[in-house]
Amino acid sequence: MIYLDANSGEMLRPSAREAMLAAWELPGNPSSVHQAGRAARALMEASREAIASAVGAQARYLVFTSGGTEADGLALRAMGSGRRLLVGATEHDAVRTAAAGGEVLPVDRNGVVRLAELERRLRAEGPALVALMLANNETGVVHPIAAAAELCRAHGARLHTDAVQALGRMPIDIGALGADSIALSAHKAGGPKGTGALVMAEDFPAAPLIAGGGQEKGWRGGTQNLPAIAGFAAICGVAPPDHLAMRDRIGEAAKEVGAIIAGEQAERLPNTLCLVLPGVRADLQLITLDLAGFAVSAGAACSSGKVAKSHVLEAMGFGADAGSAIRVSLSWQTDQAQIEQFIAAYQTMARRLLRSKHT
Ligand code: PLP
Repeated sequence: MIYLDANSGEMLRPSAREAMLAAWELPGNPSSVHQAGRAARALMEASREAIASAVGAQARYLVFTSGGTEADGLALRAMGSGRRLLVGATEHDAVRTAAAGGEVLPVDRNGVVRLAELERRLRAEGPALVALMLANNETGVVHPIAAAAELCRAHGARLHTDAVQALGRMPIDIGALGADSIALSAHKAGGPKGTGALVMAEDFPAAPLIAGGGQEKGWRGGTQNLPAIAGFAAICGVAPPDHLAMRDRIGEAAKEVGAIIAGEQAERLPNTLCLVLPGVRADLQLITLDLAGFAVSAGAACSSGKVAKSHVLEAMGFGADAGSAIRVSLSWQTDQAQIEQFIAAYQTMARRLLRSKHT
């Protein structure tokens, strides 16, 4: 199988595996005062420092969570209390669900937030919390977060940015972004699944989803998952793979057989390509490619494994074709030979399914 689904889950990096194996040998609880506890705490705090500094933040404002979903939920709860919520139309369900009932910020045809509309909404009564992701999981489209943050500041609003898909794929600096908080997840960047972080720019009052024993300065109760945290730290600071030429080679080859690249004119993650094949159902494309030995995703996969219409592509104006896209997302292990094999399989699949659509 050739794995081209890194945005669902990146392949584990050896450095993460090694760090986790070492951490599993530590018996201590980071909250214990004895020597074993202190050793565990030292590893946890060194990991916090490494992750925070990889995103230009201070370690004392980083809260470990069970992943991106929890970090987003925690951010909206803590930063959004008593505020109107303005939520990007192409946000991940982790944010959309936590912000249910919030106002939706439209995007343009390329999937980029409409800043003029954001400004118009920010002028309305009452303080707001804006939730706008750095890079979209389905299309790779990068939003102009620094410009959005400036508008937010000018209108007394806060900004939370889901940076889950950006980690390990593009530089992230919370200060340069101007966001009040960002959400991270280790497994999109070659770390373990089930661990992530909420990183804040300054001290905000804790609003825990899980109170428990008051760990993480009251932000999240429960003994921290030290092996996962050590694995998370091990992937921070690794230089992003150079995927751009591979991504664009696939894109050009897909266009030759009638595909449309979603968000083509926008800045996009170098590893992510969303290919729309008009009139051809995404699940047929997926199954055909799976049988040919390639793991890719539909625009949006539900937890049930069913393929739904993509709300991201709907927001971008794809209409009925919002159910006709697959996402190709390159892993740090992807090489040129795999790309050429994928192109051959994609072109065969597209020609066949487009032909059968007309017969
Ligand atoms: N945000 C984005 C943009 C994502 O792509 C994902 C995962 O697909 C999440 C949040 C959720 O992260 P996790 O799987 O760590 O809960």
